Amino acid sequence: MKFITQLKSAVLLLFCLSFFTEIQAQKNDKIYADLIEEYTTDSRFLPRSMHTFPASSQLPSPLEHFGTIIGAPGVMHHTKDIYNYYKILASKSDRMQMVTVSNSEEGRPIHLLIISSPENLNNLDNYKQNLNKLADPRKMDAKNVDDLISKTKPMYYLNGGLHSTEMGSPEMLMELVFRLLAEESSAMQNIRDNVITLINPVSEPDGRDKQVDWYYRYTKSKKNYDDGLRSSPPYWGKYVFHDNNRDGLQVSQELTKAIFNVFYEYHPVGMLDLHESVALLYISTGTGPYNTYIDPITIGEWQVMGNHDLTQVTAEGLPGVFTWAFYNGWWPGYGIWVANNHNATGRFYETFGNAGANTFMRDLSNTKYAGDPVHSRQWYRPVPPTEKVLWSSRNNVNYMQSGVVASLSYAANNGNQLLKNFYQKGVNNINKWKQGGKYAYVINKNQRDANMTAYLVNQLRVQGIDVHLRKSGNDKGEYVVLLNQPYSGFADALLSKQDYPKTAKHNPYDDIAWTYGLMYGVDVKAIDKAEGFSTNGLEMLTEDVSVKGSDSGSGSNLIINYKAQNEILPLLYKVSSSNKDAKIKISTKPTIAKKEALASGSIMISGADKSTVNLIKDMGLDVIKSSTLPDASTRTVKLPRIAIYHTWYDTQAEGWVRFTFENRKIPYTSINKDDLKDGNLNNRFDVILIPHTRGSVESMIHGIDSKWGPMPYTKTEAYPHHGYPDETDDMTGGPGFDGMDNLKNFVENGGAVITLANGTRMAAETGITRELTSLSSGNLYHPGSLVTTKIRNNGHHIMNGYPEVTHVFRGNLQMYQVGKYQRDHMVMQYGTSQLKDEKIYDGDIMGMQDYKPDSLAVAKSKEKPKHKYVLSGMVKNESKIVGQGAIFDIPVGKGRVVAFTFNPLHRYLNHHDAPMLWNAILNWDVKPKE
Ligand SMILES: [Zn+2]
Repeated sequence: MKFITQLKSAVLLLFCLSFFTEIQAQKNDKIYADLIEEYTTDSRFLPRSMHTFPASSQLPSPLEHFGTIIGAPGVMHHTKDIYNYYKILASKSDRMQMVTVSNSEEGRPIHLLIISSPENLNNLDNYKQNLNKLADPRKMDAKNVDDLISKTKPMYYLNGGLHSTEMGSPEMLMELVFRLLAEESSAMQNIRDNVITLINPVSEPDGRDKQVDWYYRYTKSKKNYDDGLRSSPPYWGKYVFHDNNRDGLQVSQELTKAIFNVFYEYHPVGMLDLHESVALLYISTGTGPYNTYIDPITIGEWQVMGNHDLTQVTAEGLPGVFTWAFYNGWWPGYGIWVANNHNATGRFYETFGNAGANTFMRDLSNTKYAGDPVHSRQWYRPVPPTEKVLWSSRNNVNYMQSGVVASLSYAANNGNQLLKNFYQKGVNNINKWKQGGKYAYVINKNQRDANMTAYLVNQLRVQGIDVHLRKSGNDKGEYVVLLNQPYSGFADALLSKQDYPKTAKHNPYDDIAWTYGLMYGVDVKAIDKAEGFSTNGLEMLTEDVSVKGSDSGSGSNLIINYKAQNEILPLLYKVSSSNKDAKIKISTKPTIAKKEALASGSIMISGADKSTVNLIKDMGLDVIKSSTLPDASTRTVKLPRIAIYHTWYDTQAEGWVRFTFENRKIPYTSINKDDLKDGNLNNRFDVILIPHTRGSVESMIHGIDSKWGPMPYTKTEAYPHHGYPDETDDMTGGPGFDGMDNLKNFVENGGAVITLANGTRMAAETGITRELTSLSSGNLYHPGSLVTTKIRNNGHHIMNGYPEVTHVFRGNLQMYQVGKYQRDHMVMQYGTSQLKDEKIYDGDIMGMQDYKPDSLAVAKSKEKPKHKYVLSGMVKNESKIVGQGAIFDIPVGKGRVVAFTFNPLHRYLNHHDAPMLWNAILNWDVKPKE
């Protein structure tokens, strides 16, 4: 009996055990796991959790679907293949949804994957509503917050494939998604049950496909990582290259809009951007200085989450993980900073990548971050990598995936806290003004360029900031940004001046100033205190504002007062293309029409058809109609045929120039070295614009080393994503001496070459103009800041519409100068003080015993400048630049070189500066003074 009972119990126990194991046991895919091990170059690079790989009876693994595991040598996938895999997974799993967010400039879809338990996905709309409430504490009663949070699951967003040469993340994410769906480990169940994971698998799809083609066309055969063969195609997106992660203040590109839309719709508590550059895995916290507007809770989260991930990945056995020593955390315009700017947390990883799926010996001996070698042991890098590492694509996948799983675990285990923080930051922002913060900003509607005022207001709205319009009272028509709103800290940061500490131990990672008012040329007034500021008559804007111009007077002649409006040049191209008989004149001196004082550069149109008045008004410009034109000094406008030049080795700044021209609808032709070589330039163009380009004068002349040639960038059956937006049979070799000679002839025959920032090398250092020479800037340190400038040459048409003292945005760029006796060619200078050689000498002069300078002139020349040089940002050793030339206009033969030593078209940000370039284009055929 006893025996039987025992036997029965044993059988029961066995039965229970086998039942238990049947539910819990994860079937494993040994072949997959073995291949992971095989492609990982060192057991130290294999995370403990990847010794096994889950098998699924329902879902195809990457190996089953593609025939190779993720991270296999020599394999990279196009967006279509990536998306197809996700579509299959989404159709077979109730743990994932796939939605299309938008389409890129080139028409490729941008998708979002939403992964969680089926219960969570069923409740998705409910969670979205809750998060929307938590995002705006004004919408809910504080006492319900804990209850709402307890009923809400946090969302966590992963952004893959933003930088196209950083090829690992779109690959890694496929494997991660398979594991998130198929793996029954407690770690994955915890993530599925407690986080809603949002994944943008290829946030720059245009660049991804060009890059994958590039890999198969060129770099797959590469033997050494740093042999000099380009890792990247010439373009990623249609317009924007690596700066696709510098568009968060403009939100001008589709990929940025997609990231913003996902954030606003789902309000993830964390956003993690997956980059590749640093060995072996860098987890962002940044070195500081952090911008003061960032809530200290966010700064704390960066550290906690960074160190959490470091700890977990290190516990997986992986060496070389670190935080702190890379980037600083000041500039707010990176894509996923939409999270930091809106009360969530934005972070990034840099894993070590080979820009493809080759295995390379990588040399870290000279790589330093924050002053220390990356292979050195530091407090923030407890287990450094060795000086050399043999690195594979699979290693990269292991590292990135371990990090991401760590991140998701953190969100799963700390969801309540993260949601509380998210809500609390909103509360802090709403109350900031009560603790000594500013109360509001006021933007008058009637300003120099009404379109720019509207643009500023609309850009604030793009950033989720409430803007009111005062509809009644004395100040009717002003826009008001009250700082008692959930994103008031960011509103303040956008509208105030930046003050980067000069004593900061670490140099900034990017630009340091962005003040919208100065960037756009719009006056913005700060209101420090609530007392005395009326909120009567304020109505919140519920849609973007647009500008309609007005008309006055009567008659068929049309006059537009010039105030350096950005819309003038596009308007004139429109008028001249739709009105064959229209004559356009421009005033060369101030004048008066219908009692209105007109500035130099004012536009006078005669012979245009009747619809032109509406066209002008629709473009937000005011027009005076008159039966006669004022008897003023004018010149006839001959709108130029414009070429925009690009090299094949650096299309970054040139892409922004094309974007600006197309967005403003200014016609142009894109040209490259082949056009310069072909010559015949005067027959095709009047203006050749050379955008900011990196590289020495040798690279500008000779381009990509022709030892790699011929290197076609053409659309072929095998490489269907190449050949756009420009194509060539051979990217190597620049314009060469012949091409440069043709460019020189173009100018000498009457063409205008306009150079922007370091594009000036191509005119100055090649000797196309001999008057302009490069100037050593010594210890000048000039990270992107807004600085004072002064017109040198009053009445010069390039400065039409600007006051004598104005400002521009300038970064660390090459300086240029003309000789002391050619300073007439300096149109605008940096700062307001004179150069030393221009100051009046008041000492003795041997051989001229009765020398007595004009005492008034001496006193004036010694005056302290009334204007600060730095308006927003920071410059070290500014005396090296104050007085030097910002714009030059130099005659060459029958033509001219106009050289900007800053970039008036910097990333579609400094719209205040752009009309200086529009003026140069509009007046391209005015001969500069010899
Ligand atoms: Zn990157």
